[in-house]
Amino acid sequence: MVQIVGERFRHCPTAPHDITKLARKKNNRISTLLKAMLTLALLAAPACAKREVKLSPQTPTQEQAFEMLVRGTHLLRDKKPFQAKKTLIQAAQLWPQSAPIHYNLGFCFHECGEYDSAIHEFQTALQIDPRMSDCVINIANCYQMQGRAKEAVDWFESYLKKHPRETESEEIRGMIRSLKQYEHDQVLSDPNTPDYYQSITESGKPKRWPLSRLPLKVFISNGNDEHGQPVPGFREEFNYLLLNSLDDWVKASQNRLSYRVVTDANQADIWCTWTNDPAFLREAGNKVEQGAAHVSSVTLPDGSRLIQNVHVVILIIARESQKPLTSDEMRMTCLHELGHALGMAGHSTNNRDVMFFSEAPSVWPALTKRDKATLLHVYQDYPPRAPGL
Ligand SMILES: [Zn+2]
Repeated sequence: MVQIVGERFRHCPTAPHDITKLARKKNNRISTLLKAMLTLALLAAPACAKREVKLSPQTPTQEQAFEMLVRGTHLLRDKKPFQAKKTLIQAAQLWPQSAPIHYNLGFCFHECGEYDSAIHEFQTALQIDPRMSDCVINIANCYQMQGRAKEAVDWFESYLKKHPRETESEEIRGMIRSLKQYEHDQVLSDPNTPDYYQSITESGKPKRWPLSRLPLKVFISNGNDEHGQPVPGFREEFNYLLLNSLDDWVKASQNRLSYRVVTDANQADIWCTWTNDPAFLREAGNKVEQGAAHVSSVTLPDGSRLIQNVHVVILIIARESQKPLTSDEMRMTCLHELGHALGMAGHSTNNRDVMFFSEAPSVWPALTKRDKATLLHVYQDYPPRAPGL
């Protein structure tokens, strides 16, 4: 039986309104075509939403707020959301009825991982200007980032009701289908419990490597794809990041797991290859992945599953921007996919965990206490081994 896991939604909210493109007219009325880039989790390519928004400061205070909005937008563009947030909070105090200020402030909170505050700002912008329908998508994104799939689906559906034929509507339908599938597939455990064992097992039965297979034999292709062909853009550090990630999981198991590197792929229990082709990882349907762990396992009469072998494939460029992955991004991807390869047959609902079901800026390239505790829970009855054995 082969199961493919390792998919994580990509979810970027619609971008901040690009105030820097605003041009003042002689009568002090300002208008522009604001372009909002929409890059949803399941998109192969970003879609564009375009709308005209008028911003008309009428008083010196509003002028001051407008200047802050421009500054905040520049800071956001320079990826300085904490500084941008400070500026835009002041701008919102000066001009509380400006929807674009609240919208961009919502984007700052989103980038800082403060999703409740982001939702509040997007809702405020929407109340002031109900035409700002990007707010609805961004609220849905915030809920998705929090692992609250039901609320995310509700907001995406409310967007579709009003905009059934917008360019991005088809992608949003795909997103809703996948979110519902996730809800159905996954036991949504409490994100605050000490571990998320419930979410990665079936009826409490784990999927794991048999004790007799330890130490696991791991083959890491040095920059080649599954056919042994070199992958352009591969950096040698990726090999080390993959190995370091594996070491982290072994430590998390308190040495109940162990591995050794082999040079013959045919002998490998875990076979790791690379790709620079996003389409290669795309499953049928809507799922788009940064990596995948193809796990073969057998099911025992008691319902527990024993892993037979795993093929891990890592995409070395970002799916949407096509830019090379940074070291941190690569490490996050390796940690996540290796988590699946070691028996995590599901995802966490806590957006700090490496095994969170969706990519999120709140996830760091390091295992959390819950990640570690969950893997240890899976292998807790295995004897600890001396490191390196
Ligand atoms: Zn995954």
